[in-house]
Amino acid sequence: MLKGKGISDGIGLGTVVLLKKEEIKPEKVKVEEIQTEKEIFQKALHSVQIEIQELIGTLSGTEKEIMQAYVTILQDPTLVEQIIAVIEQEKCNAAYATEIGFGQIIQMLEKIEDSYLAARSKDIADMKKKVLAKILQQEERDVSQLPKNTILVTKELTTSDTAKLDLKNIAGIITQVGIGNSHMAIMARIHEIPAIVIKEEIKQMKENDRIAMNGTTGEIFINPSQEERNKLEEIQKEVKKQKEQLQNYKNQKSSTIDDHTVELLANIGGTEEMDTVLKNTAEGVGLFRSEFLYMNSKDFPSEEEQFESYRKVAEKLQGKRAVIRTLDIGGDKDLKYMKLPKEKNPFLGYRAIRIYLDNVSLFKVQLRAILRASAYGNLAIMLPMISSIEELRKAKNVIEEVKEELRTKQKAFREKIEVGIMIEIPSAAIMAEELAKECDFFSIGTNDLVQYTMAVERGNEKVADLYTHFHPAVIRFIKLAIEGAHKSHILCGMCGEAAGDLDFIPILIGLGLDEFSMNANKILPARKWIKELDFKSCQKLAEEVLSLSSTKEIKQKVKNYLLQEGNLRK
Ligand code: PEP
Ligand code: MG
Repeated sequence: MLKGKGISDGIGLGTVVLLKKEEIKPEKVKVEEIQTEKEIFQKALHSVQIEIQELIGTLSGTEKEIMQAYVTILQDPTLVEQIIAVIEQEKCNAAYATEIGFGQIIQMLEKIEDSYLAARSKDIADMKKKVLAKILQQEERDVSQLPKNTILVTKELTTSDTAKLDLKNIAGIITQVGIGNSHMAIMARIHEIPAIVIKEEIKQMKENDRIAMNGTTGEIFINPSQEERNKLEEIQKEVKKQKEQLQNYKNQKSSTIDDHTVELLANIGGTEEMDTVLKNTAEGVGLFRSEFLYMNSKDFPSEEEQFESYRKVAEKLQGKRAVIRTLDIGGDKDLKYMKLPKEKNPFLGYRAIRIYLDNVSLFKVQLRAILRASAYGNLAIMLPMISSIEELRKAKNVIEEVKEELRTKQKAFREKIEVGIMIEIPSAAIMAEELAKECDFFSIGTNDLVQYTMAVERGNEKVADLYTHFHPAVIRFIKLAIEGAHKSHILCGMCGEAAGDLDFIPILIGLGLDEFSMNANKILPARKWIKELDFKSCQKLAEEVLSLSSTKEIKQKVKNYLLQEGNLRK
């Protein structure tokens, strides 16, 4: 048995199809006819563009948007000019110039410590390979038609490969390179295909080997024994059964046995995720991370582009609430075209609302888009990284100014649009009571609240053990936020990852959290679990947890609670 890192859950049983991708490393060749080389390059570029355009016609959702981003990369005049300049200056062959031109951009992106941009550099490297393959007339294996139950084994699966894949016939994906937030991992999860990343051991897998894999545990069995196969088949059956049972929880209220009802909403990063939101019957969108619209764009998305996205979400929800969070950039999320200053402590620096209050005209573009889209449904505005009441007041003043501008222009918008804030900074949790008097709702962002409470950077593996929402200080901050909200009779939700943690949900229910916003695929399991809970016992649990002073004690208390008769999670 081999053990890798599971990046998409599920059991995969099938036969290996090896996708070999030889590195193309073109040599520099001096040429006389630079015009011919320029033409070779332009022709290759053009045919890759056409192929992608044709592919776009067959796609929808995330894959389609990513492919459209690829076309944008290939149409980038800077890139094209750079490659033409290399041919002219070095009097060299098209293949070499392509390698150098793309390479310069890739290197630049790789130097920036940002997982999103690192993923973009992979997209550009993918485009480079395609153009090179065309120039050198080396065509790739067709992955749009694969045999049934294929386990795709390859060093790396790029986004464009993933988009072309014959998904219905893929039982699993094993790669040597990949991270949990790569597009490949995201798409695998969307399509519920198990995926594992494994290092050197990948070489042990040969074409036509039979594979049994568990994307949850990272286990891979090459040519498994009947016993190993049976074991995984059993797990597969169980998962399938559980999923089928979960369908019974669609379109239901999320109420405890003793009839305490909460709302379960979904977090999204783009409109393409709305199908999953609706399929899982979320009671709305509790967090639209609007920064993804900005990050997926080469320049600031226009008011019109943003308006279309927000309107789509509003319309699809047919009256259910959608919370649009204004741009939360900075920290670990960068916008290259914005040229934010490099900071020593980016998480403590120029981020989110701080940037907007400093660039009001930019803030207004997004506000106009949200407000105009609010005429088409039940949209709310959420302000991230609020640390003081002054920031809230300043932001609300800007919102009022934009509303006035729209009134003057006679543009429709929802007059009573709710304005809420994220509680993700300790100062906001401490001042919750005061902040609640001046806004319409809270949403607790535990991802950041944990990092700022514990002084533990959220993506830093070295201190990952200290990062937990089970810490008593975090739980006390959550309590402060909920109590502060309820004193002013406003709703308190949570959109950090903790809201979807089934082990944490009883505490949150007990503390009186009104709304839980999570990955859409987690909604039905969470709803099922909540229906097995008893509000009174959750309140007792929360009370007991609040009297404890260590994470270890709290985790033990929760474990005991889960083991209690009647509370055993099935
Ligand atoms: C959070 O901080 O919990 C949150 C939901 O926001 P993000 O993860 O986008 O920072
Ligand atoms: Mg946050």
